[in-house]
Amino acid sequence: MHYQTQLFIDGQWVAPVRQGTLEVINPATEEVITTVAAATAEDAERAVQAARRALPAWRSLSGGERGGYLRRISEAVQQRKDRLIPLQTLNNGKTLAEAEYDMDLVSACFAYYAKLAEQLEQRQNQPVVLPSTEFTSRTRFESAGVAGLIVPWNYPLVTTSWKLAPALAAGCTVIVKPSEITPLIELELGDIAREVGLPAGVLNIVTGTGQGVGAPLCEHPGVDKLSFTGSTATGTRIMATAAQSVKGVSLELGGKSPMLVFDDARIDAAVEWICGGIFANAGQMCSATSRLLVQRSIYPQLLDALVQAVAGIQVGDPFEPQVAMGPLTSRDQYDKVLSAIAQGKQCGATLVAGGGSVPGQERGYFVQPTVFTEVPLDSALWCEEIFGPVLAVRAFDTEEEALALANDSCFGLVAGVITEDEQRIQRLSASLEVGHVFINGPQELFVETSWGGFKQSGIGRELGPWGLDEFLEVKHITRGAKQPG
Ligand code: NAD
Repeated sequence: MHYQTQLFIDGQWVAPVRQGTLEVINPATEEVITTVAAATAEDAERAVQAARRALPAWRSLSGGERGGYLRRISEAVQQRKDRLIPLQTLNNGKTLAEAEYDMDLVSACFAYYAKLAEQLEQRQNQPVVLPSTEFTSRTRFESAGVAGLIVPWNYPLVTTSWKLAPALAAGCTVIVKPSEITPLIELELGDIAREVGLPAGVLNIVTGTGQGVGAPLCEHPGVDKLSFTGSTATGTRIMATAAQSVKGVSLELGGKSPMLVFDDARIDAAVEWICGGIFANAGQMCSATSRLLVQRSIYPQLLDALVQAVAGIQVGDPFEPQVAMGPLTSRDQYDKVLSAIAQGKQCGATLVAGGGSVPGQERGYFVQPTVFTEVPLDSALWCEEIFGPVLAVRAFDTEEEALALANDSCFGLVAGVITEDEQRIQRLSASLEVGHVFINGPQELFVETSWGGFKQSGIGRELGPWGLDEFLEVKHITRGAKQPG
């Protein structure tokens, strides 16, 4: 397979100014797939200059014209699925089925924002009702300028598309900074941009480390807006940097999301959704429902069924169709998750499934799906994001207790609720302190619904019309109604 390994700046594949490279690893085998350019501040400078040059023409196009490019990107992703899916599995370790789900989300995202770009014209110049006949005022929405888009490794092309599609729709020109762990899939966007004829400089891609190129991009005075997905620790640093020049920031950060199962739940369906919420993508999901709260009367029965289901999850080569869980994406993450499991064994919790690396797998970052019960409320296992296939379980007696436990977190990304009681669904939907509540089902994602969190899970919303608004400035034109003189 041929890989793009250079930087994509001003419509061209170019070498970095300082000739550095980074190794890209296959997490299932620990082999080096290839090396990619390690960009530095000088490359960030080139990319920002290219984006600034391209901005006036791009933002002057009609929404319909920009929408046309987005539609063609959506189609190009569909047409390249045979290449993108295995590439994603190779570099990230997710199964082929998970990679296919990602590519469909990406394509749907570009198609959705193509439509919103086209509709932008209808939102322009709408009159505002004023409490005065002496004046009229109209609203305009304008591009936020040059946007820096910084993304992580767990859903690489998905998180990128959730930023890139609305940014381009809004008339922003962009610099994408992929994760240094999974850059190969984002580099494909350079070829797609050329194929669909995107004007040079509208999309620039700089690969490299957070310190090497991410930080200089955030500090650059030529960047007007930052949109970041990643850890809360990096997000707070980026917010502090953005404050220096009062840049707009959108942050999609970590989580420790609760799943609440009540005694009227169907056990088999509940177990399926619980497993999907923590073991999909090997648990490397910001929205992983990693804290499970089960009503005491069904606790033993549900736990038995859960442990049995977990024993049936096949972990292994993500290219094998029967495999449900691939490796973790990096050595770093593998070490972090194993250390969190070791700590969990010391904290007073009971290990009921998994508990370490996969026996017999000599190479690759494979971890067993792991379940702890009776997890102490003050333990790291209960409070901190692990970002791996590790579930912490507790029993509760009443709805009030379950709600208090669910909300007792510095995070607030999502929550799952399984119950047949309509009144309870209404109460919990209103009082759970999270950005998205999933009721009686898996975490199905739709580009039409918002994504983002309360509390330390982030600032702003992606997807839906809210995702577009993150990249638009609002302007009013207010005129006196009387003729001069
Ligand atoms: P990370 O914060 O380490 O890195 C994310 C990106 O930021 C990478 O591209 C990295 O190179 C870059 N970066 C690092 N330091 C930087 C700096 N000082 N300035 C600019 N850029 C910098 O996160 P990660 O380990 O790649 O991803 C895992 C985290 O992402 C988890 O905490 C997870 O919850 C979160 N996440 C959140 C969402 C969401 O939608 N809320 C989605 C996916 C992942």
